[in-house]
Amino acid sequence: MSAALARVPGALTGQLVTPGDRRYAQLRSTYTTTASPAGILLPKNTAQVVAAIRYAREQRLPIAVRSGGHGLSGASSNNGGLVIDLSMLSRVQVLDERSGLVRVEAGARWANVAKSLAPYGLVVSSGDYGNVGVGGLATGGGVGWLVRSFGLTIDRVRAVEVVLADGTLVRADAEHEPELFWLVRGAGAGAGIVVAFEIEATEQRNVGVAQLVVEAHPDGRTVREWAAYLAQAPRELSAGAVVYAEGRSTLMSITAVVAAESLRRVRPVVEPLLAIGKLLEHRTDLLAYPTLVPNAHLHPNVGQQRGTTTNGLFTRLDDASARALTRATTGPGRAVFQLRSVGGAVNDVDAGATAYPHRHQNTLVVGSVFPPQGGAALDAAWRGVAARADGAYVNFESRPDPAAFARIYPGETGARVRRLWKRYDPDGVFRSPLLTARPARSGQPARSGQPRSGQPARSGQPRSGQPHRRRR
Ligand SMILES: Cc1cc2nc3c(=O)[nH]c(=O)nc-3n(C[C@H](O)[C@H](O)[C@H](O)COP(=O)(O)OP(=O)(O)OC[C@H]3O[C@@H](n4cnc5c(N)ncnc54)[C@H](O)[C@@H]3O)c2cc1C
Repeated sequence: MSAALARVPGALTGQLVTPGDRRYAQLRSTYTTTASPAGILLPKNTAQVVAAIRYAREQRLPIAVRSGGHGLSGASSNNGGLVIDLSMLSRVQVLDERSGLVRVEAGARWANVAKSLAPYGLVVSSGDYGNVGVGGLATGGGVGWLVRSFGLTIDRVRAVEVVLADGTLVRADAEHEPELFWLVRGAGAGAGIVVAFEIEATEQRNVGVAQLVVEAHPDGRTVREWAAYLAQAPRELSAGAVVYAEGRSTLMSITAVVAAESLRRVRPVVEPLLAIGKLLEHRTDLLAYPTLVPNAHLHPNVGQQRGTTTNGLFTRLDDASARALTRATTGPGRAVFQLRSVGGAVNDVDAGATAYPHRHQNTLVVGSVFPPQGGAALDAAWRGVAARADGAYVNFESRPDPAAFARIYPGETGARVRRLWKRYDPDGVFRSPLLTARPARSGQPARSGQPRSGQPARSGQPRSGQPHRRRR
């Protein structure tokens, strides 16, 4: 054990991993960052989460909370502090098959959730990647493959079990601790440690999946038409698109998902997308929902995905933004963009009902650059895109700071989030990096290469809509 750390209490024996331990190499890093924490605590149950918080506070070291380790800022690890890693809390239980109520522990991965619920014909719309953790996604929002049909992941959360900074376990729902329940749905990172979520899953076995590659017109019309169609399409349709350079051209790799059990209902909904640009590839299949977030996505996180990412929400993606976005793919920063549909059921929810207030926008645009490009290149690419952005989503921001906070939690939402973070965590144990300067990123030398998710799909497996390179 590291000399700097006191012996763990009996309740945590064997659950602290320090640099001499063979498990340390696997646990030190996240998907985006290589780090060197003093130790990683691996609680197996709620009582151990309480013990872990108490122990970590006694050490007076910075604390990072980790569920799946996919946070873009890398804040789920740290240098010299303690990480509370929830990966051993990963149970998925169906509480009531008829109503679809399920209990999901924070350390589960969305691939596990999809697989566990499939035998019941239930789904929770989460994200596009199976290795993402439940805890980070379901405290921020959750823009999933069925988002326009069923809303954000947080919109289906019915209760949460949270361990606060003082070690108190609280069950919050609409009637009990409603302020905490409000906070955890959109601004949960910073409130405490959510150990489990009760979520109302939806009945759905199969989905229609259309995979298209189109050449995007440099004047931006292809991107604009994608967004315009998605803004008013039937809400059975949700879609993602990766926009990236291929030589001097810009391609859009589109995955369109239709909440329908028969291909007859899928084709007419997808049809308009086939005409937005020169069609290079196309296939439509009826697939079991877990195919979209498969176990094949599961892998250890070793800092393999360096990159700088920001995002903006748009009610209408206008000509200027669409053109700027398309041009930035072939510009000096070789930015990669991901378009994600929101709207539909997301906008049925009152803007004040949760800490995710963006309930009138239709398109989420995520911009990324990859090493050797960094923040300056992303800022240059993003400037032209963002002029009409109206808000941002916490989970696609790799540089959390107060300016990002103001875009993510504007106006009264922001004031309430600050007030409640202070109420539930008065000593700032889980203080959000959104309130402070940008964290220093430890890193390995920059690597170059094209994003794998931007390559044309060759197999029957749907490509992920996320714009990040995958290195496993
Ligand atoms: C490849 C990839 C694909 C993605 N696709 C999508 C997508 O389709 N849709 C979407 O909405 N998002 C997507 N995201 C973003 C994702 O929602 C966030 O990165 C999310 O924070 C990841 O959750 P995690 O538990 O894996 O992350 P972690 O790195 O473990 O956690 C991220 C942060 O969340 C907080 N946190 C984690 N667990 C808890 C907890 N139990 N209680 C309180 N706070 C906690 C901590 O502050 C932590 O620093 C994607 C990210 C990646 C890298």
